[in-house]
Amino acid sequence: MPLNLQVNDQIITKKNHPCGGNTFEILRTGIDFRIKCTTCEKQIWITRANLEKRVKKIVRDGVEVPK
Ligand SMILES: [Zn+2]
Repeated sequence: MPLNLQVNDQIITKKNHPCGGNTFEILRTGIDFRIKCTTCEKQIWITRANLEKRVKKIVRDGVEVPK
């Protein structure tokens, strides 16, 4: 089952971004996702498969949603 990931969701990743942050915002979904580090604002393209491996938590409207 693919993870339920939507635009504007915030995701907490298992590994930190090189800037030290671990929270990203989803800007675009699809086979490839575009996400933005909320700490350093850097935007990254990542495949869904890779992203799903890295997700620890999904937060939607400030509430954690089950994976
Ligand atoms: Zn960053």
